[in-house]
Amino acid sequence: MCGIIGVAGVPDASRLAYLGLYALQHRGQESAGIVALDDDATARMHKGMGLVSENFDQELLDRLPGDVAVGHTRYSTSGSTVLANAQPCYANTRCGPLSLAHNGNLINAPELRARLVQEGAIFQSSSDSEVIVHLIARSEAETPEGQIRDALEQIDGAYSLIISLGRTLYATVDSRGFRPLALGKLGDGFVIASETCALDLVGASVVCELEPGDFIRVEDGEVTHLQRLKPRPVTRCVFELVYFARPDSMVFHQSVDAARRELGRALAREHPADGAEVVFSVPDSSNAMALGYAEASGIKLEHGLIRNHYVGRTFINPTQALRIAKVRIKFNPVREVIEGKSVVVVDDSLVRGNTSRGLVQMIRAAGAREVHLRLGSPPITGPCHYGIDTPTREELIAATHSVEEIREYLGVDSLGYLSLDGMLAAAGQPPGAEPRFCHACFSGDYPTPIPEELVQLRHVSPLVEAGA
Ligand code: AMP
Repeated sequence: MCGIIGVAGVPDASRLAYLGLYALQHRGQESAGIVALDDDATARMHKGMGLVSENFDQELLDRLPGDVAVGHTRYSTSGSTVLANAQPCYANTRCGPLSLAHNGNLINAPELRARLVQEGAIFQSSSDSEVIVHLIARSEAETPEGQIRDALEQIDGAYSLIISLGRTLYATVDSRGFRPLALGKLGDGFVIASETCALDLVGASVVCELEPGDFIRVEDGEVTHLQRLKPRPVTRCVFELVYFARPDSMVFHQSVDAARRELGRALAREHPADGAEVVFSVPDSSNAMALGYAEASGIKLEHGLIRNHYVGRTFINPTQALRIAKVRIKFNPVREVIEGKSVVVVDDSLVRGNTSRGLVQMIRAAGAREVHLRLGSPPITGPCHYGIDTPTREELIAATHSVEEIREYLGVDSLGYLSLDGMLAAAGQPPGAEPRFCHACFSGDYPTPIPEELVQLRHVSPLVEAGA
């Protein structure tokens, strides 16, 4: 998953991109990068591994002048964790400097890449996003938007894109609309970002969310809606609402906070915990869900787990050993809240089960009499091929174990997953309503074909990190 931002027509654009990336940090912590363009369309770039705060400072931003900028925070879903894969992707083309920030995952990248390589293309990275750069640069269309459209017509899968070509900014969302993208106005200029929380931070007012298939150009202080991409059935990623997006964002025309509360209420109705005395969340992603659960069940909401905010998202860390060790660094139970009580722990999802198992052990050690785990989404049984970093099927605990087996493995007294219908209804798609979500990781119902090659290539890359 990634966070992307574009700024056009605002002085000191790189500084705004930098601030916006701070608000999008939760979408990717492996690398951060900004490309800025000055009045002469001279592009300057800085990218680095790690957090936004680790990569940029005042002096560096001073060296990225101009009123157009594109920024990106990344964690890998395609291609390995190396600097070469950090974005924005950058290239010099016959239309001028091109930079591209991509959120999503292309399903036909391996096939397109093989063809391009056969034709002589030289790739700098192993990321799927670079394929788009090559397709744009090689297009014979006469206008820059023609070149971009040419590329968009060849790629398939999930993509929210921000592209600068010369000093013009373009943005698009694939026709299925997997990933969010919002347009904001700031002074005489515009800001485009993955989530509205980034627009809030830079003081931009929200103009609109880009709809699936939207393709826009921002130039000379004006936004032009270009011809839309070929329509397809809309499949917004429901996991954005369940886990990924920040609760202070509006995503897919709804408040993420409101959706999570509703997921919590639905969970309480489907899986009550009779006799429980307190309910608490696994902070922070399930805070709003626990609130909803407490509201609907009447069980008192408490803060039973404290999260250390200086650790980062453990799941995002790509090595398994580190992930396990980090559970203890990241969470600590509040003994006074837990001791002698029957507790309900609300989490948004269960992936491998590692974090939750460690947490349950800590909660028991803090004196809980009973532990009832409630999850605000159904069992995750398949990987995401559209940009969320879920692991391979083999590593997903619910792909190979029954709910009862998982309950036993986690060591909880009871385990309740929200049903697929319950989750979709809470997210705004009641039974019988027109489908609007992708729920492939829960249901196995993938909205695109998944080439076997793509399954094989997950996390495999010809690039080896120095020292590895
Ligand atoms: P585990 O118990 O190891 O399966 O980890 C579950 C935790 O991972 C939950 O608290 C989720 O909030 C979190 N989580 C779920 N999906 C993801 C993801 N794609 N990236 C990062 N964290 C995730």
